[in-house]
Amino acid sequence: MERYVYDFDEPTEGGRDLLGGKGIGLAEMRQLGVPVPAGFTITTDACRAYMASGGQFPAGLEAEIDEHLARLEETTGKRFGDPDDPLLVSVRSGAAVSMPGMMDTILNVGLNDAAVEGLARRTGNDRFARDSYRRLIQMYGETVDHIEPHRFSDALGKQGDDLPGLIETFKSIYAEETGHSFPQDAKEQLGRAVRAVFESWDTPRAKAYRRHNHIPDDLGTAVNVVQMVFGNKGEHSGTGVAFTRDPSTGEAGLYGEFLADAQGEDVVAGIRTPEPVESMRERLPAAFDELIETMRRLEEHYKDMQDIEFTVEDGKLYLLQTRSAKRTAAAALKAAVAMVDEGLIAREEAVARIDPGQLDQLLHPRIDPDVTYVVAAKGLNASPGAASGQIVFDADTAEDRGRDGVSVILVRWETTPDDIHGMIAAQGILTAHGGMTSHAAVVARGMGKPCVAGCEALSLDLDARTASLNGTRLNEGDVITIDGGTGEVIVGEVTLIPPDINEDFETVLGWADDLRRLKVRANADTPEDAAKAREFGAQGIGLCRTEHMFMADDRLPVVRDMIMASDEDERRAALDKLLPHQQSDFEGIFEAMAGLPVTIRLLDPPLHEFLPPLEEARDDRMRSRIRALQEANPMLGTRGCRLGLQFPEIYEMQVRAIIGAASAVRDRTGDAPLVEIMHPLVGFQEELRRLRDLTVATAEEESDVEYLVGTMIELPRACIRADEIAEQADFFSFGTNDLTQTALGFSRDDAEGKFLTHYLQDGVLERNPFETLDQSGVGELMAIAVERGRRTKPDIKLGICGEHGGEPDSVKFCHALGLDYVSCSPYRVPLARLAAAQAALAEAGVEAVSVGG
Ligand code: PEP
Ligand code: MG
Repeated sequence: MERYVYDFDEPTEGGRDLLGGKGIGLAEMRQLGVPVPAGFTITTDACRAYMASGGQFPAGLEAEIDEHLARLEETTGKRFGDPDDPLLVSVRSGAAVSMPGMMDTILNVGLNDAAVEGLARRTGNDRFARDSYRRLIQMYGETVDHIEPHRFSDALGKQGDDLPGLIETFKSIYAEETGHSFPQDAKEQLGRAVRAVFESWDTPRAKAYRRHNHIPDDLGTAVNVVQMVFGNKGEHSGTGVAFTRDPSTGEAGLYGEFLADAQGEDVVAGIRTPEPVESMRERLPAAFDELIETMRRLEEHYKDMQDIEFTVEDGKLYLLQTRSAKRTAAAALKAAVAMVDEGLIAREEAVARIDPGQLDQLLHPRIDPDVTYVVAAKGLNASPGAASGQIVFDADTAEDRGRDGVSVILVRWETTPDDIHGMIAAQGILTAHGGMTSHAAVVARGMGKPCVAGCEALSLDLDARTASLNGTRLNEGDVITIDGGTGEVIVGEVTLIPPDINEDFETVLGWADDLRRLKVRANADTPEDAAKAREFGAQGIGLCRTEHMFMADDRLPVVRDMIMASDEDERRAALDKLLPHQQSDFEGIFEAMAGLPVTIRLLDPPLHEFLPPLEEARDDRMRSRIRALQEANPMLGTRGCRLGLQFPEIYEMQVRAIIGAASAVRDRTGDAPLVEIMHPLVGFQEELRRLRDLTVATAEEESDVEYLVGTMIELPRACIRADEIAEQADFFSFGTNDLTQTALGFSRDDAEGKFLTHYLQDGVLERNPFETLDQSGVGELMAIAVERGRRTKPDIKLGICGEHGGEPDSVKFCHALGLDYVSCSPYRVPLARLAAAQAALAEAGVEAVSVGG
């Protein structure tokens, strides 16, 4: 018979996947001799079986729970449900992948009307016993029976300290809402609590969180049944959370928060604002020393920064959880560099464990240090980065306005897991309550969003939809700026500037560069972007889209003349005017990229994109031209090389400008640029053969500089016939934006925000194929093209320039395909460098340590 339950000190093979992060942490701490309460873990297998059967405990589970409960009674010397000296347990969720605050926990399970009296007598602490009971009724009511939290918190607000009164009120709320009285049978409480935790895996908020973080829906959660230890027993008790290093900056040293005489959920919920953990030093010196020593040992054991939860009961320390700490990108880099210096980990491990997606955070805007502004209020600097946006007071509004492209700041008393969709949509988060480890702070750091928490000068009137910030009245829709690095809140918009890169960033990326095989280039259309790309470590330009040069104010009229031309001569006259502009653009880019390859793509978009809308046409001639150029499916129409073949003089002018620029730069600097001329949207060998001839003939007339001629691969036919196309190409560059559209038959403009959004919501597709390469479809076409292209030309140069070139998983796929380089937007170059190194490390067997808990 399958086994579903393990004591913390029982060995299993299943590890994190079976026991969940919390369960495995408790088991490992137990093995290390760290003080943890006794208890057992119900496995994720049990949760999966429960879900698969539509809500039935699998056969044998109940008996197994009874058996482990009996053992727990033996270990603790107390009996579950005993009216005289009851054993109390917490029932805690714990998935294999960390989902902070997403799922449910119920404390004090096992108390009832009789046991509360026994607990009071045994502990000599009447207050504590009754407080524990009212917490059970509240958490159990909310979690197991889904009673609205405000029902309890309203009563708490009114009745405050009258604990016997509160218990009676809570029990009547419970009876009123459920139609039955609060269960007095301890085993019934436990069984229903376990079910509630299983079911919390499938709440809308947990699903939303998983979708956002690409966590599969079928993992399930484990359930930990843990002997209660009490932080709310008086002045020698308390509870806290701590990090082994600062999760915002990565600086070494103790970092955490502590609440005396409280239970854990008080800290996380942000109901009371906690003190720094150092406050324990005087109050509870022995427990404090043991905490420091334990944290040191845990970090040494896991070789990673830890995030722990602990409780002190009557002076005795217990750890309730340890996990790899969620941290900002800056902290991840600093801690990794420090751990290499301390000899705790090797450089390869340091590189392997940084999340490339997270580096984005370092590339977040900050407030321009040269502007002056008035700080309206200050809160805690809970998650770095700055953002401006309209105030919204609830998550749904944040989502609605965010969908319309409006920048919003979600402003709340405090956030809860139900706000997750609004936090995803918002540019930043501001809360009036809560500390550095409140829900808002933890979630924002994970998302890399600016957050200011615990801003006490803020108060909200949610009915009137107004806020008061240090006395200034603000309406929903008013713009504010927050700086999550300093905690500052400013009324109005402030100039933000892009961030620069620090030393730790350079160090880790330098290590990554030593480890990777893939080269990383940037997509850049201007000398400024090229310079930025170089600063970020780009090794060339993989895609320069020339159409952007046609759009500039001083060019567009000439481009329109060219399109309006009635014959080739008129067209050539207009193109002659464009040529010097294009040439000087290319010279600037070649100089910025001196010594590195630059791929320039000839004109791609359909010509109507350069004309105004019909209503704005200047005359009848233009109107009729616009009509003539109109297409039902422009994405599949007269664009790319089809345009070049129809109007060869356009590509001739561009080739002349490229070659002219290259030879001018060579003459000026003595260094010839490495030029690659690229033809878009090729599907047939004959297209490229003709265009190659045109390119070579034109270039020869211009200069003797060297250059390569190649093609984008962005049509399925080009992948299938890559062997023939390679005869005409020195290089291939996968245009996976168009290849995704053409392979999937999705028009991007008609998919995103429309059916694709539904597909992602409903789980038809797990990830957006325009963001993460569809490896099994589009990727397979790429593999065919690579294999067939190389069959014709073994040394053909291969790259990717679609947006996937900057997405970590897609970069890893490109490594495995054996491409020579990836090319992405300048800001994603660092991330691609890191992902490329991780791909090489994974191939060599160095995987990232699992982070979570
Ligand atoms: C592509 O299709 O992937 C590509 C890079 O070209 P564009 O996005 O300009 O169509
Ligand atoms: Mg394209």
